[in-house]
Amino acid sequence: MSAFSLGPEQTAWCAELRELAGRRLRPLADRGAPGRVNRPLLAELGRLGLLARLFSAGALDLCLMRESLAQACTEAETALALQGLGAHPVHAHGTPAQRGRWLHRVADGSAVAAFALSEPGAGSDAAALALAAEADGDGWRLTGAKCWISNAPEADFYTVFARTTPGAGARGVTAFLVPADRPGLTGSALEMISPHPIGALDFDAVPVTAADVLGAPDRGFAVAMGTLNLFRPSVGAFAVGMAQAALDATIGHTRRREAFRGRLMDLQAVSHQVAEMALRTEAARLMVYAAAAAHDAGAADVPRRAAMAKLLATETAQYVVDTAVQLHGARALRRGHLLEHLYREVRAPRIYEGASEVQRGIIAKELYATAHEEDR
Ligand SMILES: Cc1cc2nc3c(=O)[nH]c(=O)nc-3n(C[C@H](O)[C@H](O)[C@H](O)COP(=O)(O)OP(=O)(O)OC[C@H]3O[C@@H](n4cnc5c(N)ncnc54)[C@H](O)[C@@H]3O)c2cc1C
Repeated sequence: MSAFSLGPEQTAWCAELRELAGRRLRPLADRGAPGRVNRPLLAELGRLGLLARLFSAGALDLCLMRESLAQACTEAETALALQGLGAHPVHAHGTPAQRGRWLHRVADGSAVAAFALSEPGAGSDAAALALAAEADGDGWRLTGAKCWISNAPEADFYTVFARTTPGAGARGVTAFLVPADRPGLTGSALEMISPHPIGALDFDAVPVTAADVLGAPDRGFAVAMGTLNLFRPSVGAFAVGMAQAALDATIGHTRRREAFRGRLMDLQAVSHQVAEMALRTEAARLMVYAAAAAHDAGAADVPRRAAMAKLLATETAQYVVDTAVQLHGARALRRGHLLEHLYREVRAPRIYEGASEVQRGIIAKELYATAHEEDR
């Protein structure tokens, strides 16, 4: 594929995913408890082969899955994405024993994964994380807290980033695979504006050994950033999927709604807003595909492209969903309406996996670093 158009097989796969999301995943999502891990939904994602694809596909396929599922079932999209986020460090950096124990269960949906980086005192400034890994015999003891961890406290294992070298910033962080049943690990659920399985974790001298390390000691920050470079464009894809769903709903509504002896679509002030929504959604989509294609090609400028794609797509989706609400009028705000759901759902991606301001910081840093290299 070129970065600017999908091939016919990819287009057909996306259509199939949207259809499956509506027919097989939507009913399971509707039966799940809001804000809780939905294991039947995960099992179905496993049966459909989509979770296994997290480990065989590249960034572009991940984006196509997330965009397509988001258009018909955001809950299924999120369940898939969180399995990928939590398990990617195991897939990319795990030992044969870690991979053998967990990845097939992540792929069939029977084990739930989580990615535990954020802390009460370290969100955007992730390198300031303080969860202490103190040497104890052959291993370490983890003491401290994690916060805003998707799938916590119900996950079966956590990719946990902890400080092995105090005062060393990003260079003193180690990634550990911590099974949920380790002694001293407890957690509690948090309720969000849009139901999302998420919680806080408390570590009270949780024992870990060298066999639990993902990658190498003190090299865990690279594990976290590599995972985010893969997932950031796909957060953009999630946002594009929500924007497309809002746009489709708006085209349908403005074609049908009668007003001023015509339809809303006959008012140029309305139809031009719809055109603007479509324009911005398509621009965001192209940037997401280009960033994902660059990731799959091993391009050097992936951090900048991934940041740009996430930033543009999540901000665009916020605009598109807000405009869709406006053009639907009061009905969009009624509890249970698709746009009421999207209006709440679209907000968080501008904050997680690096807030929009953090993405601007990454873009600027990369631009100046490149200029510096060229000056040499
Ligand atoms: C739904 C949801 C799911 C999440 N899931 C996970 C998860 O699975 N795992 C995980 O580890 N974390 C997760 N998080 C946490 C998320 O990654 C953090 O919320 C995010 O990194 C921001 O950290 P913070 O909330 O502490 O905000 P802060 O770091 O306190 O920042 C607050 C605001 O300050 C501004 N700001 C911050 N830094 C800068 C800067 N450098 N320049 C300019 N302005 C800045 C931005 O406006 C930012 O939104 C999730 C969050 C949400 C909402």
